Amino acid sequence: MEQAPYRVLLFYKYVDIDSPEEFAQEHVEFCKSNHLKGRILVATEGINGTVSGTYEDTQTYIDAMRADERFADMAFKIDESEGHAFKKMHVRPRPELVTLRLNEEDVDPRQTTGNYLTPEEWHEQLQNPDAIVLDARNKYEYDLGHFRGAIRPDIDSFKELPQWLKENKEKFEGKKILTYCTGGVRCEKFSGWLVDQGFDDVNQLHGGIVTYGKDPNVKGKMWDGQCYVFDERISVPVNQEEHVVVGRDYYTGEPCERYVNCANPECNKQIIVSEETERFYVGGCSDECRKHPRNRYVTRNNISVEEWDKQLQIIDEHLAATSNR
Ligand SMILES: [Zn+2]
Repeated sequence: MEQAPYRVLLFYKYVDIDSPEEFAQEHVEFCKSNHLKGRILVATEGINGTVSGTYEDTQTYIDAMRADERFADMAFKIDESEGHAFKKMHVRPRPELVTLRLNEEDVDPRQTTGNYLTPEEWHEQLQNPDAIVLDARNKYEYDLGHFRGAIRPDIDSFKELPQWLKENKEKFEGKKILTYCTGGVRCEKFSGWLVDQGFDDVNQLHGGIVTYGKDPNVKGKMWDGQCYVFDERISVPVNQEEHVVVGRDYYTGEPCERYVNCANPECNKQIIVSEETERFYVGGCSDECRKHPRNRYVTRNNISVEEWDKQLQIIDEHLAATSNR
């Protein structure tokens, strides 16, 4: 197979970084001079980023990072790509890499974290009837794809996860907990928090879903759907052997894996929709969004005011007819 001209790198490392502001300033210059695009967060607790660039530019980046003893053993998850996966290059200093934002003192994964499972160990434990699989990501990520049988926390952001867990604690007590996220950075912190909470059998997928999907032995087995990613690709495949669609069209409930943002720029909610249903509902997730004066679907598709009004009427009639059924 011919090599794609670009690559997308995903990486993180919990390690001491003394002055994140200074580091970020120098690092963004380095990345830009190397023609990379992407998003990198830097904190006193470490680095977390994803960047895209040509094969050579991404290799220069990997080599430069490995030459720094702090990042010498940092794992890079590498996807081939036809082009950049980002529009700009940002390196931002932050108080934390990922935020559980607890009132109590935050967890330090450099001190406390769950057991690491290799992809093979993880695959084996997925079949353990005494284990419980907990997705540590947001619900919109879960909805596009997840490990078979995994529990879906009803959360829109990572910092809501501790509260959700406290409210659902009984599901996990006395169980072997298996938790996972995209690349591993959230799990390292979350599994440390679980350990702090007194759970004594906490396990995490080392390197996350992305590493699991690339493992030559497990080949992404027991993953259903696609893996949501935070770049222009929106999703990447995981299971190399079978593809079970778990995404559902927001309007019809039909199998679908196409994520778009609601056309109302003030709503911007991510919804799974087919091209057909997006067109029918003029891109809006609600009546209010469909009628929004700055509806982007209407603008993008040069829909006239008359056509728009007519379609809104058709939608009203359709919704009235289906709700009376
Ligand atoms: Zn909306």
